[in-house]
Amino acid sequence: MSKITFPIGINTTAIHAGEEPDPVTGASAPNIVMSTTFVADANAGFSVEGLEEDAAWIYTRWGNPTIHQLEVKLAALENGETAIAFASGMAAITALLLHALRSGDHAIISDVAYAALSEMTNEIIPGLSISITKVDTSDLKAIQKAVLPNTRLIYVETPCNPLLRLTDIKAVAAIAHNAGAKLAVDSTFATPIATRPLESGADFVVHSLTKYLGGHGDALGGTIIGSRLELAALRKTTAIRLGGVISPFNAWLIMRGIATFPLRMKIHAENALAVARFLEGHPKVARVIYPGLPSHPQHELAQRQMHNFSGMLTFQVKNGRGAAQIFAEHLQIIHYAVSLGHHRSLIFYLPSDDLLQSSFKFSTPEQLTSWKSFAGEGIFRFSVGLEDIEDIIHDLEHVLEKL
Ligand SMILES: *Cc1c(COP(=O)(O)O)cnc(C)c1O
Repeated sequence: MSKITFPIGINTTAIHAGEEPDPVTGASAPNIVMSTTFVADANAGFSVEGLEEDAAWIYTRWGNPTIHQLEVKLAALENGETAIAFASGMAAITALLLHALRSGDHAIISDVAYAALSEMTNEIIPGLSISITKVDTSDLKAIQKAVLPNTRLIYVETPCNPLLRLTDIKAVAAIAHNAGAKLAVDSTFATPIATRPLESGADFVVHSLTKYLGGHGDALGGTIIGSRLELAALRKTTAIRLGGVISPFNAWLIMRGIATFPLRMKIHAENALAVARFLEGHPKVARVIYPGLPSHPQHELAQRQMHNFSGMLTFQVKNGRGAAQIFAEHLQIIHYAVSLGHHRSLIFYLPSDDLLQSSFKFSTPEQLTSWKSFAGEGIFRFSVGLEDIEDIIHDLEHVLEKL
């Protein structure tokens, strides 16, 4: 990468950023450095307090050559200054919240977001004397109304898991910055092919690398991307000291996945649009939500904010629970399983009443109405994979026939 002197495109970035042939062996593919410790000179410090950004490798929790390669690649993909890789998306999110918020602070969080984040901000974070307001962040007025003098962070997910409801990043960045708060965007569903939140004013971008970036369902990982100054502080405190660092082996797997990630996103989006259109025309399907369909309630914002509509869609059928049983038993290619963003197609049923009880605790009737308008009694969340589109549709067709 350091040898490249001209501006490069996204495919070249995904393949080359952070990597260069090994100076000792000439190996073209990156080595995996699994060593947890590195031989130091006698002046090396023993505390991260004095750790310089360009310090020699000392201990893998502080930094590691393979993890560093992944971090350089991630920062380049989001057009950010620095990235820090974590053991999972949740490890990244935890490190971010504990970095950005102190006792007495207030944060505004998407009322519908990744379930573990919702549960953490319902149960754990308030116990640290940090107050949280959950807001439907597609509603800019509701965000503005929730701002308090001690609001330090606005945290949004767009498109949000599992509703695929969108948030206008530029508009929320303006609200956050007027209030003296930072904006963090979980862009796992969008990926840097669709949306680059830092370019729209966000201060932090978060990804679960377990999903599209890794892309093969074989390695957990997470990242935070942002400014050098802010992330240098975060690395010393909530990354290194709390310790949710990624294994170099997983970093290597995810880096290998990223090489084909821009290509994969093209097919994910193409296949998802074809499936969305097929389902929208099917008599057993009551509703399809996909940002790339004109019927998505925020299709205009999707066109403005997303350069690729990604591979996630939801749909509703009558008696979803019964249908889930049939899908789990009779699908032949599509796996009935959680997670998303893999090369394999994955489908899972999310009943509204269960989710509203366990993960999302709405405080206003408007929040419930908005949920119902996107999810009804329950949705199938479908992560459309890279299989032949005829085969994916064939698999769906024969299970829908049984309903
Ligand atoms: C999966 C996911 C996470 C959590 O990531 P893990 O790698 O499972 O910890 C966070 N946000 C979104 C939107 C996700 O889909």
